[in-house]
Amino acid sequence: MTALRDILIARIRDGGPMPLADYMAECLMNPDHGYYATRDPLGAAGDFTTAPEISQLFGELMGLALAQAWLDQGAPAPFTLAECGPGRGTLMADLLRATRGVPGFHAALRLHLVEASPALRAVQRATIGRDDITWHESADALPDAPLFLIANEFFDALPIRQFMRAGAGAGWCERCVGVRDGKLVLEAGAPRPVAALAQRLEDTREGDIVEHCAPGEAVAGAIGARIAAHGGAALIVDYGGWRTLGDTFQAVRRHQRADPLEAPGMADLTAHVDFEALARAAAPARHTRLTPQGVFLERLGVTARAQVLAKGLDGEALENHVAAHRRLTHPQEMGTLFQVLGLYPPNAAPPPGCDA
Ligand code: SAH
Repeated sequence: MTALRDILIARIRDGGPMPLADYMAECLMNPDHGYYATRDPLGAAGDFTTAPEISQLFGELMGLALAQAWLDQGAPAPFTLAECGPGRGTLMADLLRATRGVPGFHAALRLHLVEASPALRAVQRATIGRDDITWHESADALPDAPLFLIANEFFDALPIRQFMRAGAGAGWCERCVGVRDGKLVLEAGAPRPVAALAQRLEDTREGDIVEHCAPGEAVAGAIGARIAAHGGAALIVDYGGWRTLGDTFQAVRRHQRADPLEAPGMADLTAHVDFEALARAAAPARHTRLTPQGVFLERLGVTARAQVLAKGLDGEALENHVAAHRRLTHPQEMGTLFQVLGLYPPNAAPPPGCDA
């Protein structure tokens, strides 16, 4: 029994079943018990690992792609260099190191991080090791300036709501967290129309489940508005697809799948990212098509870079390096599970590595 579970059960007994988004927000970011709010869950010793934690190759190439987009747009100065959900700060540290040789890039950048977790902000401060970082609770607060932004495994952590298509008419039953026999359970509400799902009436049938991530759309909107108005580019990497369908709500604890209702606050909760919804919300910024992470990294020269790094390694370190390269790029590992969406201004070229 976790303390957060008791709090949620009391709240549901009082106020009725809770939308999944509220449940997810409490589990991840409750100030006293939230999964991210209270700990650093990343890496081999934690619950899950991510591309930048697997190898420096990832952050270096993301950084060079972003710096090339900045050069392609005439090297605007000053500009906002931003990351949403930087975790341990590893991606940003690798990006900053890899771009040191890009003339003018470091002098012009103003570093902004969007991070809600106080525990992870402290880790980021230590990893990145600069005293000129501005943190924000939300992407709305990013400056009105040219914006070059990265986000890896950020949007999958934002709270979703789930709806099941009802029988007759255009109604949806929201799937909420209720309490039965002292346990948290999923239950469907009464059918009602949902304006945000109007375009999903075309591609769904009775019983189908769709997910809606309003906070993700708000973040994409804030990013897209700045890129369209002031220039810039965003590289968004996550697992998901173009118009997701079905229940993708999942929990991971100690590198294993878990029941998302089992231990609130103790497991990472995610849902697949619906990139179509993000791309729509980012208008008037333009968007690329989805590019598989493996293809994206190959286009940016990951194999050549991996070979250079391999020269200094032998034995177990070399084996680990080769395995990390494979893990990031191979279709049966992260290579196709993860997808890249680029955002860019109407009058500029798409960011390097992405399919236009
Ligand atoms: N990008 C990192 C970490 C991914 S984990 C990596 O690839 O390793 C998700 C990150 O998003 C964490 O830093 C988490 O604290 C942050 N995060 C999750 N929900 C958030 C929210 N609603 N607002 C701001 N940051 C959030």
